[in-house]
Amino acid sequence: MLFAGIGPKGQERLLASRAVIVGCGAIGAAAANLLVRAGVGHLRIIDRDFVEPSNLQRQTLFDESDASRALPKAVAAEQKLRSINSSVVVEGIVADLSPRNVHDLLGGFDVLLDGTDNFETRFLVNDFAVKSVRPWIYAAAVASYGLTMAIRPGQTPCLSCLLETSNATSGLDETCDTIGVLGPIVNLIASLEVAEALKLLSGHPEALHGRLTSCDVWSGHMQSVRVARNPECRACVKQDFTYLHGEAQPHITFCGRDSVQIHETGRAMDLHALKLRLTSVVDDVCQNDFLLRFRIAPYEMTVFADGRAILKGTKDPAVARSLYARYVGA
Ligand SMILES: [Zn+2]
Repeated sequence: MLFAGIGPKGQERLLASRAVIVGCGAIGAAAANLLVRAGVGHLRIIDRDFVEPSNLQRQTLFDESDASRALPKAVAAEQKLRSINSSVVVEGIVADLSPRNVHDLLGGFDVLLDGTDNFETRFLVNDFAVKSVRPWIYAAAVASYGLTMAIRPGQTPCLSCLLETSNATSGLDETCDTIGVLGPIVNLIASLEVAEALKLLSGHPEALHGRLTSCDVWSGHMQSVRVARNPECRACVKQDFTYLHGEAQPHITFCGRDSVQIHETGRAMDLHALKLRLTSVVDDVCQNDFLLRFRIAPYEMTVFADGRAILKGTKDPAVARSLYARYVGA
């Protein structure tokens, strides 16, 4: 309230606002922390994964007990954020954002924030935002480098203007799982992202700088450039929402280093019954209310309550399909 850019009126608007973060890895966790402390009214966090010890170097909302309990990130984040500011409505949703659920999960929010780790999901969010004319904020980081830009459909270029016509994604093909990422760059990018969100949510869109900002905390190189709108843009000019109308997702997709995701959403699993069935045939079975994890060396499988599974230790869809059928059932 004391900061002139926001003031008491802006803070009141912020308290009545609704934001959603897609993906709660390093950038998503840092952004959620800042938004909840600032007093956003309602925050939804969508994430498909669970907390692992290797996340703790950069994912600042989580701790060792979250990792040892293998809590889904959305659940661990919700618990932590409620204890930080109990007056904010925090909603953690364990799900993989897809064309099927994007309207249910992202509809009705004042701003969408990027916390994802892949361009498939970013283009899905961009298509949804452009079509429904909602502001969203792109943010990405890998190694020591990151970038962010606020996108206001109809007023600024969109992600497709920026990325589908240039080589801007080159260098971002590498992921945090293959070449790592420094804690400082994700927190810096999340801070820049949330600053733009606060301008929008406090009712000061005129304060948005509208530039693509990129930073490298190792070389010290920082840049802020104005991006031109692409007059031929698939999404914001031609209104061709490929990702939104995308065919049903492939049954199996890659996620991270040496792991694949098996999509079986909408299938209610009895995790306790599955645990009883598997205990004598697989190793290290561990179950909580949200997931069941077990090891069949050299693989590790995590099955979620909606039937989705993540298999670590292979990139071969055939292996994934066969292990899923054998241990979880068709
Ligand atoms: Zn565009």
